[in-house]
Order: sequence, then structure tokens, then C-alpha cells
Amino acid sequence: MISVNSKLPKAGTTIFTVMSALASEVGAINLSQGFPDYETSPELIELVNQAMKQGFNQYAPMAGYMPLREAISQKTEKLYGAYYDPGTEITVTAGGTQAIYTAIATVINPNDEVIIFEPAFDCYAPAIKIAGGIVKSLELEPPDYSIKWDLVKKLINNRTRMIILNTPNNPTATLLQKADIDALSAIVKDKDIFILSDEVYEHLIYDGNIHHSMARYPELRQRSFIVASFGKPFHATGWKVGYCMAPAVLMSEFRKIHQFLVFCVNSPVQVAIAGYLKNEYHYLYLSEFFRQKRDHFRKGLESTRFELLPCLGSYFQSVRYGSITDEKDTDFATRLTKDFGVAVIPVSAFYSRGTDHHILRFCFAKRQETLDIAVERLIKV
Ligand code: GLN
Repeated sequence: MISVNSKLPKAGTTIFTVMSALASEVGAINLSQGFPDYETSPELIELVNQAMKQGFNQYAPMAGYMPLREAISQKTEKLYGAYYDPGTEITVTAGGTQAIYTAIATVINPNDEVIIFEPAFDCYAPAIKIAGGIVKSLELEPPDYSIKWDLVKKLINNRTRMIILNTPNNPTATLLQKADIDALSAIVKDKDIFILSDEVYEHLIYDGNIHHSMARYPELRQRSFIVASFGKPFHATGWKVGYCMAPAVLMSEFRKIHQFLVFCVNSPVQVAIAGYLKNEYHYLYLSEFFRQKRDHFRKGLESTRFELLPCLGSYFQSVRYGSITDEKDTDFATRLTKDFGVAVIPVSAFYSRGTDHHILRFCFAKRQETLDIAVERLIKV
């Protein structure tokens, strides 16, 4: 028999696929994997249609359709006061995950160390390992999951090549604050440390908070790959279009990998989004749109025995369930899905050591009726 020397011997199937499959198998309401259950805008769909009819059906330029890169540049400048050159500093990717993988592959060599904060989105560590890098994870504690920067400092040595950040955070729904930015800036100053900043939930920020994009801070920006996505803001996670922004010296290396990984991203969606981004309302309304969903869902959960954790950004709401059961979060998530008809994500899936704080993550990017039925079922738990 032929054998495989696995690059990821410990990896199973991602928790998102596992829980979504279980949800559909048992007919549960799926609040596990993060995607909307309502349609994307008919106007945007019409723009994709038009692009296809106009003949945008062949390869796009390797780095992305230029009017889309220009629109991204304008949006970034408007929101964060930072100019990225569409010619040399922006690349359109097949979703956030590909941008993350490519950025890591671009700068991580065997035995380079990368610091990640856990719970961490599940694609970071595998991408580091495939590149031969070493994952240095720092576990954050609920409920605030704040980063203890003195501990970060202790993890840094001359093999540290990258720090991965994610704000707004999936799964914790926390935000980096200005104090974090200051501490991070002091730590990386004069060091050859790159930052990979996963900002795919940049528009989903509540309660008057601001998004501390790395783009805003020159010390950080010069060493950052910033990753963003169109799947989240435009309710179209299946289109798999996102982008990466980085200074030209980093971006030219990024593109060397990108061109051999995907070459380019589908044309009609790029053309459509370039048109759709012209109206800034299409992303500015999002924080109010999702705030209403968050508040509605949180209010409903108040009638359950689950204990709410804060939600400052993203479309995820975490809860503790210690007053209900002492089951492992993976077991409880399975039981909730099968016996109560609500699929959720066990947060231990986001820790490399499987740390279980008895916390579950719900996605509230759902129609109000869906959230209401889910709450009715959760009240019975
Ligand atoms: N970002 C989404 C989530 O956290 C799903 C991503 C995925 O399925 N790979 O649920």
C-alpha cells in the first residue's frame, strides 16, 4: 500500500464542516458555521449576472480586476486614512483563508516561530505547520480574552517571524483596543517581525467602538499583511472573494506564491463587487444591521440558562453553559444539535491543546425567525 507522510498528522476535518454536516443530517437550525441564512442583495446578484453577460468569463488579471483593487484602495483610505497602491499593494484572493495561507507561505520558512492567540480561527496553525514553521500559542482567558503583552514579550526570540492578530475576533467577538496597538508597536519596533492581521469582520463593530486596522498605524502597517473578505459584508460567503493588502515589498513576494496557488480569482464577482463598492452605504450600514441581530439574539438568550459573554464585534455570540452541565463542550455541542435541534461550535476547537472552558459559539447572521426558533429551543435546555 502506498503511504502518505502527512503534513498535518493530527488534523481531522474542520469543526465547521463537522457541525454543518451534523446540522443538516439531523435537520437542526445551523448556528454553527458562520454564514447567513438570508439572501445577498438582488442588486449585487444582478451585477454578477451583467458581468457574465458582458463577457467577464475568462481569467482575471493575476492580482485582481483593477477597478476592484482601486475600489478597495479608496475604501481603505476613506475608512482608515491609509493609501494602498492598487497596482502594487493590493491582491484579490479566493477568500480570506487563501490570503492567510499565502501570507504565511510568503514569509515563514522552516523553524520560524509564529505567535498566535488562542482561541484562534482554525486555519492559522495548519498553514504555519505546512510552511515548516513553529506555532507558539498564547492562550487567552474568558470572558474578556485580553492579551497580556508582557507574556507575548517573553515568547519573542530571534526566531520569531510573525504575530497573527484577528480583530474583530472569531470566535471571541472581542476587539483590539488602542492600548493593544501601543503595546504591540513597542514590542515589534526594530525587529524583523511580520504581522498577519485577519480583519475579515472589520465592518461588524458595535457600541461606538472603532476598528483598529493595522493600516492606521505606520509602525505596524509597514510589516503587516492585512486580510479582508467580501463574503462577510456582502452576505455571500460562498463566492470566496477576499483580498490582502501589504507594502509593495511584501506584496511582490505574496504574489509570487498567489500566482502559483490560485493564479487569479473568478472574474464576474470581482467586476460586480467593484461596482457595488461605489456606494459606501453597502458596507456602512452593516454595523447597525448586525447590531440589531446581536441585540435581538442576546435578549432572547437572556431567557435561557446560558450565560452571555460580551460581543463587541463579528457575528458571533459566545455563551458559558457551566450552570447547565459539566459535559465537554464537544459532547454538549453534539447533544444540543441532535436532541435540541440547534447546532453550535464548541470553542475548544479553536485551541491547539483542546482547552475546554465550557463555552459555545453561536452565529447570529440569521433571519430573525431563525434566531427566534433557536431561542425557543434553547430555553428548553
Ligand atoms: N468563518 C466561518 C466561521 O467561523 C467559517 C469558515 C469556514 O467554514 N472555513 O464559522
